[in-house]
Amino acid sequence: MPVRAARQDLADTWTLELESADVFPFDPGQFTMLSALGAGEVPISISGDSAANGTLVHTVRAVGLATRAICRSQPGDVLTVRGPFGNAWPLGEAVGRDVVIVAGGIALAPLRAAILRLLANADRYGRLVLLHGGRSPDQLLYADELEAWRERGLDAWTTVDSAGPEWLGHVGVVPNLIRRAAFDGERAIAFVCGPEVMMRFTLTALERRGVTADRVYVSLERNMQCGIGLCGHCQLGPTLLCRDGPVFRYDEVEPLLRVREL
Ligand SMILES: Cc1cc2nc3c(=O)[nH]c(=O)nc-3n(C[C@H](O)[C@H](O)[C@H](O)COP(=O)(O)OP(=O)(O)OC[C@H]3O[C@@H](n4cnc5c(N)ncnc54)[C@H](O)[C@@H]3O)c2cc1C
Repeated sequence: MPVRAARQDLADTWTLELESADVFPFDPGQFTMLSALGAGEVPISISGDSAANGTLVHTVRAVGLATRAICRSQPGDVLTVRGPFGNAWPLGEAVGRDVVIVAGGIALAPLRAAILRLLANADRYGRLVLLHGGRSPDQLLYADELEAWRERGLDAWTTVDSAGPEWLGHVGVVPNLIRRAAFDGERAIAFVCGPEVMMRFTLTALERRGVTADRVYVSLERNMQCGIGLCGHCQLGPTLLCRDGPVFRYDEVEPLLRVREL
Protein backbone atom coordinates (compact mmCIF):
# COMPACT_ATOMS: atom_id res chain seq x y z
CA MET A 1 0.00 0.00 0.00
CA PRO A 2 1.32 3.47 -0.83
CA VAL A 3 2.01 5.87 2.03
CA ARG A 4 -0.42 8.77 1.72
CA ALA A 5 0.80 10.81 4.69
CA ALA A 6 3.47 10.55 7.37
CA ARG A 7 3.28 12.58 10.56
CA GLN A 8 5.99 12.69 13.19
CA ASP A 9 4.33 12.37 16.62
CA LEU A 10 7.37 12.13 18.90
CA ALA A 11 11.14 12.14 18.45
CA ASP A 12 11.05 8.42 17.59
CA THR A 13 7.42 7.84 16.60
CA TRP A 14 5.53 8.37 13.37
CA THR A 15 1.92 7.88 12.30
CA LEU A 16 1.62 6.59 8.74
CA GLU A 17 -1.56 6.77 6.74
CA LEU A 18 -1.62 4.14 4.00
CA GLU A 19 -3.84 4.17 0.97
CA SER A 20 -5.82 0.93 0.94
CA ALA A 21 -7.36 0.74 -2.52
CA ASP A 22 -9.72 -2.03 -1.43
CA VAL A 23 -11.87 -2.00 1.63
CA PHE A 24 -9.73 -3.30 4.50
CA PRO A 25 -12.13 -4.34 7.26
CA PHE A 26 -10.66 -4.72 10.73
CA ASP A 27 -11.69 -4.45 14.36
CA PRO A 28 -9.99 -2.19 16.91
CA GLY A 29 -7.18 -4.15 18.59
CA GLN A 30 -6.14 -6.10 15.50
CA PHE A 31 -2.69 -5.75 13.95
CA THR A 32 -1.01 -6.15 10.59
CA MET A 33 2.40 -7.48 9.61
CA LEU A 34 4.03 -4.40 8.13
CA SER A 35 7.23 -4.05 6.14
CA ALA A 36 9.30 -1.51 4.26
CA LEU A 37 10.58 -3.71 1.50
CA GLY A 38 13.65 -5.72 2.44
CA ALA A 39 13.95 -4.52 6.03
CA GLY A 40 11.95 -7.21 7.83
CA GLU A 41 8.31 -7.55 8.68
CA VAL A 42 6.88 -6.68 12.11
CA PRO A 43 3.51 -6.72 13.89
CA ILE A 44 2.00 -3.23 14.26
CA SER A 45 -1.46 -2.47 15.62
CA ILE A 46 -3.90 -0.60 13.46
CA SER A 47 -4.38 2.76 15.17
CA GLY A 48 -6.86 4.35 12.74
CA ASP A 49 -10.64 4.38 12.65
CA SER A 50 -12.16 1.05 11.61
CA ALA A 51 -15.10 2.96 10.08
CA ALA A 52 -12.87 4.91 7.65
CA ASN A 53 -12.67 3.33 4.19
CA GLY A 54 -9.70 3.57 1.87
CA THR A 55 -7.18 4.38 4.56
CA LEU A 56 -5.17 2.31 7.01
CA VAL A 57 -3.33 4.02 9.86
CA HIS A 58 -0.44 2.74 12.01
CA THR A 59 1.62 4.51 14.67
CA VAL A 60 5.14 3.15 14.82
CA ARG A 61 8.04 3.70 17.18
CA ALA A 62 11.44 3.32 15.54
CA VAL A 63 13.30 0.85 17.78
CA GLY A 64 15.18 -1.43 15.37
CA LEU A 65 15.84 -2.34 11.75
CA ALA A 66 12.26 -2.96 10.59
CA THR A 67 10.54 -0.16 12.48
CA ARG A 68 13.24 2.39 11.57
CA ALA A 69 12.77 1.56 7.88
CA ILE A 70 8.97 1.86 8.21
CA CYS A 71 9.31 5.22 10.00
CA ARG A 72 11.61 6.56 7.26
CA SER A 73 8.82 6.10 4.69
CA GLN A 74 7.69 9.17 2.81
CA PRO A 75 4.42 9.82 0.97
CA GLY A 76 4.49 7.78 -2.25
CA ASP A 77 6.68 5.00 -0.81
CA VAL A 78 5.11 1.55 -0.68
CA LEU A 79 4.81 -0.69 2.39
CA THR A 80 3.68 -4.31 2.33
CA VAL A 81 0.77 -5.15 4.59
CA ARG A 82 -0.53 -8.58 5.62
CA GLY A 83 -3.58 -8.92 7.80
CA PRO A 84 -5.57 -7.90 9.67
CA PHE A 85 -4.60 -10.50 12.28
CA GLY A 86 -5.50 -11.32 15.86
CA ASN A 87 -8.56 -10.60 17.93
CA ALA A 88 -10.10 -7.34 19.05
CA TRP A 89 -10.99 -5.31 22.13
CA PRO A 90 -14.43 -6.54 23.31
CA LEU A 91 -16.39 -3.38 22.48
CA GLY A 92 -19.67 -5.35 22.48
CA GLU A 93 -19.10 -6.51 26.05
CA ALA A 94 -18.45 -2.90 27.07
CA VAL A 95 -21.93 -1.75 26.06
CA GLY A 96 -23.79 -0.29 29.05
CA ARG A 97 -20.65 -0.14 31.19
CA ASP A 98 -18.12 2.52 32.18
CA VAL A 99 -14.99 1.90 30.10
CA VAL A 100 -11.58 2.57 31.64
CA ILE A 101 -8.69 2.65 29.17
CA VAL A 102 -5.20 2.49 30.65
CA ALA A 103 -2.17 2.97 28.41
CA GLY A 104 1.54 3.35 29.01
CA GLY A 105 3.57 5.23 26.37
CA ILE A 106 3.36 3.95 22.77
CA ALA A 107 0.71 1.47 23.96
CA LEU A 108 -1.90 4.15 23.37
CA ALA A 109 -1.54 3.28 19.67
CA PRO A 110 -3.24 -0.16 19.95
CA LEU A 111 -6.04 1.53 21.91
CA ARG A 112 -6.62 4.51 19.61
CA ALA A 113 -8.87 2.59 17.22
CA ALA A 114 -11.00 1.48 20.19
CA ILE A 115 -11.19 5.03 21.56
CA LEU A 116 -12.41 6.32 18.19
CA ARG A 117 -15.19 3.70 18.06
CA LEU A 118 -16.18 4.23 21.70
CA LEU A 119 -16.48 7.98 21.10
CA ALA A 120 -18.44 7.47 17.88
CA ASN A 121 -20.98 5.38 19.82
CA ALA A 122 -20.67 7.13 23.19
CA ASP A 123 -24.42 6.87 23.86
CA ARG A 124 -24.06 3.08 24.18
CA TYR A 125 -21.53 3.28 27.02
CA GLY A 126 -21.31 4.80 30.49
CA ARG A 127 -18.35 7.00 31.37
CA LEU A 128 -15.39 6.79 29.01
CA VAL A 129 -12.14 7.28 30.91
CA LEU A 130 -8.59 7.35 29.51
CA LEU A 131 -5.59 7.16 31.82
CA HIS A 132 -2.37 7.63 29.87
CA GLY A 133 1.20 7.83 31.10
CA GLY A 134 4.49 8.72 29.46
CA ARG A 135 8.08 9.15 30.62
CA SER A 136 8.03 12.93 30.11
CA PRO A 137 5.68 15.52 28.56
CA ASP A 138 7.44 15.28 25.18
CA GLN A 139 6.76 11.50 25.15
CA LEU A 140 2.98 11.76 25.37
CA LEU A 141 1.47 10.31 22.22
CA TYR A 142 -1.47 12.03 20.44
CA ALA A 143 -1.26 14.99 22.87
CA ASP A 144 -2.81 17.21 20.18
CA GLU A 145 -5.80 14.87 19.81
CA LEU A 146 -6.60 14.60 23.50
CA GLU A 147 -8.42 17.94 23.64
CA ALA A 148 -10.68 16.95 20.73
CA TRP A 149 -11.39 13.60 22.43
CA ARG A 150 -12.20 15.42 25.69
CA GLU A 151 -14.69 17.63 23.85
CA ARG A 152 -16.39 14.49 22.55
CA GLY A 153 -16.83 13.16 26.09
CA LEU A 154 -13.63 11.30 26.95
CA ASP A 155 -12.47 11.91 30.52
CA ALA A 156 -8.77 11.87 29.60
CA TRP A 157 -6.02 12.03 32.24
CA THR A 158 -2.32 12.12 31.57
CA THR A 159 0.64 11.65 33.86
CA VAL A 160 4.41 11.64 33.38
CA ASP A 161 7.24 9.99 35.29
CA SER A 162 9.14 13.25 35.51
CA ALA A 163 8.81 16.81 34.21
CA GLY A 164 10.16 20.34 34.55
CA PRO A 165 8.31 23.21 36.28
CA GLU A 166 6.44 24.06 33.06
CA TRP A 167 4.38 20.84 33.38
CA LEU A 168 1.22 21.50 35.40
CA GLY A 169 -0.27 18.01 35.09
CA HIS A 170 0.12 14.85 37.14
CA VAL A 171 3.52 13.34 37.91
CA GLY A 172 3.78 9.64 38.80
CA VAL A 173 3.01 6.27 37.31
CA VAL A 174 -0.24 5.68 35.46
CA PRO A 175 -1.76 3.16 37.95
CA ASN A 176 -1.78 6.03 40.50
CA LEU A 177 -4.47 7.77 38.45
CA ILE A 178 -6.87 4.88 38.92
CA ARG A 179 -7.86 5.76 42.48
CA ARG A 180 -8.65 9.36 41.43
CA ALA A 181 -10.64 8.83 38.24
CA ALA A 182 -14.44 8.82 38.30
CA PHE A 183 -15.98 5.49 37.25
CA ASP A 184 -18.17 2.81 38.79
CA GLY A 185 -15.78 -0.05 39.51
CA GLU A 186 -18.59 -2.53 40.13
CA ARG A 187 -19.75 -2.31 36.51
CA ALA A 188 -16.72 -0.97 34.66
CA ILE A 189 -14.68 -2.82 32.07
CA ALA A 190 -11.00 -1.97 31.51
CA PHE A 191 -8.78 -2.15 28.43
CA VAL A 192 -5.09 -2.04 29.35
CA CYS A 193 -1.92 -1.94 27.27
CA GLY A 194 1.65 -1.21 28.27
CA PRO A 195 4.72 -2.87 29.74
CA GLU A 196 3.78 -6.03 31.66
CA VAL A 197 4.94 -4.62 35.00
CA MET A 198 2.68 -1.61 34.48
CA MET A 199 -0.24 -3.92 33.65
CA ARG A 200 0.30 -5.83 36.91
CA PHE A 201 0.20 -2.65 39.02
CA THR A 202 -2.78 -1.44 37.01
CA LEU A 203 -4.70 -4.62 37.78
CA THR A 204 -4.02 -4.26 41.52
CA ALA A 205 -5.25 -0.66 41.45
CA LEU A 206 -8.32 -1.61 39.41
CA GLU A 207 -9.18 -4.43 41.80
CA ARG A 208 -9.05 -1.95 44.70
CA ARG A 209 -11.72 0.01 42.82
CA GLY A 210 -13.86 -3.10 42.39
CA VAL A 211 -12.92 -3.96 38.79
CA THR A 212 -12.31 -7.71 38.92
CA ALA A 213 -9.78 -9.40 36.62
CA ASP A 214 -12.55 -10.98 34.54
CA ARG A 215 -13.50 -7.46 33.43
CA VAL A 216 -9.95 -6.42 32.55
CA TYR A 217 -8.59 -7.01 29.04
CA VAL A 218 -4.92 -6.63 28.14
CA SER A 219 -3.10 -6.58 24.81
CA LEU A 220 0.16 -8.52 24.96
CA GLU A 221 3.33 -8.31 22.88
CA ARG A 222 5.70 -11.09 21.92
CA ASN A 223 8.08 -11.60 19.04
CA MET A 224 5.97 -12.57 16.00
CA GLN A 225 6.88 -13.73 12.55
CA CYS A 226 4.03 -15.34 10.63
CA GLY A 227 1.01 -13.67 12.26
CA ILE A 228 -1.20 -16.67 11.49
CA GLY A 229 -0.42 -19.23 14.20
CA LEU A 230 2.07 -21.33 12.22
CA CYS A 231 5.61 -20.47 13.27
CA GLY A 232 5.27 -20.57 17.06
CA HIS A 233 7.45 -17.52 17.77
CA CYS A 234 4.75 -15.81 19.83
CA GLN A 235 3.87 -18.84 21.94
CA LEU A 236 2.89 -18.16 25.56
CA GLY A 237 2.22 -21.50 27.24
CA PRO A 238 -0.65 -23.14 25.34
CA THR A 239 -1.55 -19.96 23.44
CA LEU A 240 -0.21 -18.29 20.34
CA LEU A 241 -0.51 -14.53 20.70
CA CYS A 242 -1.06 -13.85 17.01
CA ARG A 243 -3.90 -16.36 16.75
CA ASP A 244 -5.49 -16.37 20.22
CA GLY A 245 -4.63 -12.74 21.10
CA PRO A 246 -3.18 -10.20 21.27
CA VAL A 247 -6.15 -9.25 23.50
CA PHE A 248 -6.73 -11.52 26.49
CA ARG A 249 -8.96 -11.43 29.54
CA TYR A 250 -6.57 -10.82 32.38
CA ASP A 251 -7.74 -13.62 34.70
CA GLU A 252 -7.23 -16.12 31.87
CA VAL A 253 -3.69 -15.05 30.99
CA GLU A 254 -2.33 -13.96 34.39
CA PRO A 255 -1.18 -17.47 35.46
CA LEU A 256 0.94 -17.64 32.29
CA LEU A 257 2.45 -14.19 32.83
CA ARG A 258 3.54 -15.26 36.32
CA VAL A 259 5.87 -17.94 34.89
CA ARG A 260 9.30 -16.40 34.28
CA GLU A 261 10.72 -16.67 30.76
CA LEU A 262 7.57 -18.40 29.44
C1 LIG B 1 0.50 -7.46 18.44
C2 LIG B 1 1.59 -6.41 18.44
C3 LIG B 1 1.25 -5.11 18.15
C4 LIG B 1 2.25 -4.12 18.12
N1 LIG B 1 1.88 -2.84 17.82
C5 LIG B 1 2.81 -1.89 17.73
C6 LIG B 1 2.45 -0.56 17.37
O1 LIG B 1 1.28 -0.23 17.16
N2 LIG B 1 3.44 0.35 17.26
C7 LIG B 1 4.76 0.03 17.50
O2 LIG B 1 5.62 0.91 17.38
N3 LIG B 1 5.14 -1.21 17.86
C8 LIG B 1 4.20 -2.18 17.97
N4 LIG B 1 4.58 -3.46 18.30
C9 LIG B 1 6.01 -3.74 18.59
C10 LIG B 1 6.78 -3.94 17.27
O3 LIG B 1 6.32 -5.07 16.62
C11 LIG B 1 8.28 -4.07 17.58
O4 LIG B 1 8.76 -2.84 18.04
C12 LIG B 1 9.03 -4.50 16.34
O5 LIG B 1 8.79 -5.86 16.10
C13 LIG B 1 10.54 -4.26 16.50
O6 LIG B 1 11.16 -4.73 15.32
P1 LIG B 1 12.53 -4.07 14.78
O7 LIG B 1 13.10 -4.96 13.74
O8 LIG B 1 12.31 -2.64 14.41
O9 LIG B 1 13.42 -4.03 16.06
P2 LIG B 1 14.33 -5.22 16.66
O10 LIG B 1 15.68 -5.09 16.05
O11 LIG B 1 13.61 -6.53 16.56
O12 LIG B 1 14.35 -4.77 18.17
C14 LIG B 1 14.91 -3.52 18.57
C15 LIG B 1 14.72 -3.36 20.08
O13 LIG B 1 13.30 -3.39 20.40
C16 LIG B 1 13.04 -4.48 21.28
N5 LIG B 1 11.79 -5.12 20.82
C17 LIG B 1 11.62 -5.86 19.71
N6 LIG B 1 10.37 -6.28 19.60
C18 LIG B 1 9.72 -5.81 20.69
C19 LIG B 1 8.39 -5.91 21.16
N7 LIG B 1 7.45 -6.63 20.52
N8 LIG B 1 8.09 -5.29 22.31
C20 LIG B 1 9.01 -4.60 22.99
N9 LIG B 1 10.29 -4.46 22.61
C21 LIG B 1 10.65 -5.06 21.47
C22 LIG B 1 14.20 -5.44 21.14
O14 LIG B 1 14.39 -6.15 22.35
C23 LIG B 1 15.35 -4.49 20.88
O15 LIG B 1 15.82 -3.92 22.08
C24 LIG B 1 3.62 -4.46 18.38
C25 LIG B 1 3.94 -5.78 18.69
C26 LIG B 1 2.95 -6.75 18.72
C27 LIG B 1 3.32 -8.16 19.04
